[in-house]
Amino acid sequence: MPKVPNWQLGREMAYPYEAGRPEWQFAFAFNINRCIACQTCTMACKSTWTFSKGQEHMWWNNVETKPYGGYPHNWDIKLLSMLDKANPEGQAWEGGADPKEKPYGTFGGKTIFEAASEGTEQSQRVMGYLPTDEEWQSPNIYEETAAGAPMQEGEWGGSTQLPEHKVWFYYLQRLCNHCTYPGCLAACPRQAIYKRPEDGIVLIDQKRCRGYRKCVEACPYKKAMYRPSTRVSEKCIACYPRIEGKDPHISPDGAPLETRCMSACVGKIRLQGLVKKTKDGEWDNVPDNPLHFLIRDRRIALPLYPQFGTEPNGYYIPPRWAPRDYLEQMFGPGVEAAIEQYCCPDRELLAVLQLFRVSQRIIFKFEIEKGPKVAEVPVTMPSGKEKTQTIYNDTVIGYDKLGKVAAKITIEEPTFERDSEHHVNSI
Ligand code: SF4
Ligand code: SF4
Repeated sequence: MPKVPNWQLGREMAYPYEAGRPEWQFAFAFNINRCIACQTCTMACKSTWTFSKGQEHMWWNNVETKPYGGYPHNWDIKLLSMLDKANPEGQAWEGGADPKEKPYGTFGGKTIFEAASEGTEQSQRVMGYLPTDEEWQSPNIYEETAAGAPMQEGEWGGSTQLPEHKVWFYYLQRLCNHCTYPGCLAACPRQAIYKRPEDGIVLIDQKRCRGYRKCVEACPYKKAMYRPSTRVSEKCIACYPRIEGKDPHISPDGAPLETRCMSACVGKIRLQGLVKKTKDGEWDNVPDNPLHFLIRDRRIALPLYPQFGTEPNGYYIPPRWAPRDYLEQMFGPGVEAAIEQYCCPDRELLAVLQLFRVSQRIIFKFEIEKGPKVAEVPVTMPSGKEKTQTIYNDTVIGYDKLGKVAAKITIEEPTFERDSEHHVNSI
């Protein structure tokens, strides 16, 4: 099996094909701390792509409540137990982090490709499983069900103290990660799945697919789905006409647009874009691209289950209040450093965080115009350390692919007072 570089694992890994080298890569960053589970994203996707016969069970975008929720039910618990069996030595991350080459250290265990190739599970290309019909049936199972010790009298205050609440849950927003090394693509015996060279979007060729469901079995995130009415598989297509700037109504000048689920996000938790890749398949060093800044420079947005080995291109700012061991299993060893930064963001980070969900146009570049100091706020860090956050009313400007201003927003939200004479019923 060829060896491919996986920067999230900090090492090379076995993969059935040579590494793809797209020019750009579709990617996104989600701020879990802000999600309100309104499911507007879920419905925006459903009403665009999966409203037809045979697609009733399909939710290309879903938002589940952790730790108990999951669509399909228990998808990650099942995968993690399989990986656990395949890694009797443990799945430790070894130190020696290098911010550029291996920002989270080196993953010492076996990925879903390595575990399968060594015949520890099914003797197939990718270790996986096919969810049952029942597991696909309840996308909202355990929504808002909290975990944690039963509350004792007088423990209410203690239960909501940072850094770890005793009773907790959080929402996990999920869609296809348009992985750099897709499990779905690796497993397809028909070679019906491909990664587009222009933007790294992973698609299923509906004409080549014969519905063997190997992709459903192999995608560790369970984001490839079978449609019984057509007998072929389907998956998120990253709203590619929007990414290509081909929606004449909202992008008459052809600028690339965010997907439907990203554009609809009420909680302003989502920032989606395209990151430039080098000819070697590495991330190009573009520090003024907001995703590059959050993911590679600051490492505040972390990959979902990097240990699976697919190099997913969805990244998450972890929630401040959940148990750290649970979060580290899900997002790798960068969790504490990410939360520490998020709790007291510096001037530049605070400005970039304003760009989440401010424009439908994909932001390729940001600039910050400095403003006056407006506040000093005392902050208690998760470590217990006291800090002071100095806030400046800077303006952050986002530019689209054509170099036009797509967003311009200040740190302080402007307020306006309505004229009472013309709005007599104002309160
Ligand atoms: S998330 Fe699953 S369906 Fe999407 S590219 Fe990765 S392996 Fe394929
Ligand atoms: S629209 Fe945004 S806030 Fe609402 S559930 Fe989706 S990700 Fe969360």
